[in-house]
Amino acid sequence: MGKLIIRNARVIDPASGRDEIASIVVADGVIEHVGADTNSPHADVIDATGLVACPGFIDVHTHLREPGREDKETIASGTRAAAAGGFTTICAIPNTSPVIDSQTGLKFILSRAESDAVVNVIPYASVTRCQQGEEIVEFGDLVHYGARGFTDDGHPIMNAEIMRRALEYSAMFDVPILDHCEDIHLAGEGVVHEGFYSTKLGLKGIPPLAESVQVARDVELAAFTRGRLHIMHVSKRQSLPHIRRAKAEGVRVTAEVTPHHLTLTDAALESFDTNLKVNPPIGDAADRDALISALLDDTIDCIATDHAPHTDIEKDQPFVDAPYGMVGLETAFPVLYTSLVKSGLVPLRKLLEKMTIGPARVLGLEPRGSLAVGAPADIVLLNLSQEVQITPDFFFSKSFNSPWLGSTLTGAVIMTVVSGKLVYSHRQIIEK
Ligand SMILES: [Zn+2]
Repeated sequence: MGKLIIRNARVIDPASGRDEIASIVVADGVIEHVGADTNSPHADVIDATGLVACPGFIDVHTHLREPGREDKETIASGTRAAAAGGFTTICAIPNTSPVIDSQTGLKFILSRAESDAVVNVIPYASVTRCQQGEEIVEFGDLVHYGARGFTDDGHPIMNAEIMRRALEYSAMFDVPILDHCEDIHLAGEGVVHEGFYSTKLGLKGIPPLAESVQVARDVELAAFTRGRLHIMHVSKRQSLPHIRRAKAEGVRVTAEVTPHHLTLTDAALESFDTNLKVNPPIGDAADRDALISALLDDTIDCIATDHAPHTDIEKDQPFVDAPYGMVGLETAFPVLYTSLVKSGLVPLRKLLEKMTIGPARVLGLEPRGSLAVGAPADIVLLNLSQEVQITPDFFFSKSFNSPWLGSTLTGAVIMTVVSGKLVYSHRQIIEK
């Protein structure tokens, strides 16, 4: 593999604090130099004048649907959506059909990623056999075959004794347990956040307690076991004090928040758009504001998309019957840039930190997530003033279940480089 030089970009590397006009030199798939321009006669050159260059985004929470629901997404389509969204590494949630709970399942994901993926795919395995919450998987074996984390996401782990043992294994093998925190009994038949709008719209509510009591339980178990706990999609302000306190006490806990929980409120439900039906449900304005504050003060470590593709037939049902989830890989950056950075709520460097080195640290992937010399050359080029129209054609994903359909946002992903190779440029995937 030859050399690549990205010239004249505004290089932002949150891991090192760098923010300056500079050139990035890539050789053999890794970062060779960042700084003053160098001459290299045989290099490929990208003139990035006017663009931001930063480490490629990392998503610790992506539903790729393969195996089992290839009509919604595949490893091929999902990784193309990732590249178009500026993501160079994504982590595959194992709630597929069958569930990834064995060596065979992991081997399938890794071999499919090898042949079909255009970005890095990191597999997780489920915590319990078939995600049934009863029997813990063969941890050591699955770590050996490539599982970088364990999660029953889609379902909470209701049995505290199972969660305790899972966290004990996580300490032994130094991999995180990523938990979808939801007390299913408190959540009951609810479909939206319990509050003013659930009452007004006549939809059954899920109380914030359904999340916060599980968060409280999990951090207590993590403290006791010294395990590695990652709280997925934190959505309610009541969960935050538990995470803050645990971190202050040195408990090994990390947390993520989604773009939709950071930018939307349940007031949007008045549209009855089923693309707003997500689990955990979108909270109220006080929740959103508290999540932004928690991102700023590092109570929350990273932003994760919870990219959850569904077909239009499935989403085109009455609100109570539609499945939970929205796609997120391609809209993440423009949504966050428009709602948080352009509006002045979050500095650009902070946003980029939470999409690069933040998620890398959650899984221990460093130097990925940075532009350090010797790191894999995973880079994204962004145009901060370009508008993007969110239409079905905007999506490389097989699904376009997004509440932002029809909107115009600011902040475009222009090019994506994975291990020194250009995989996406100006609305085109560069095929292998
Ligand atoms: Zn979940």
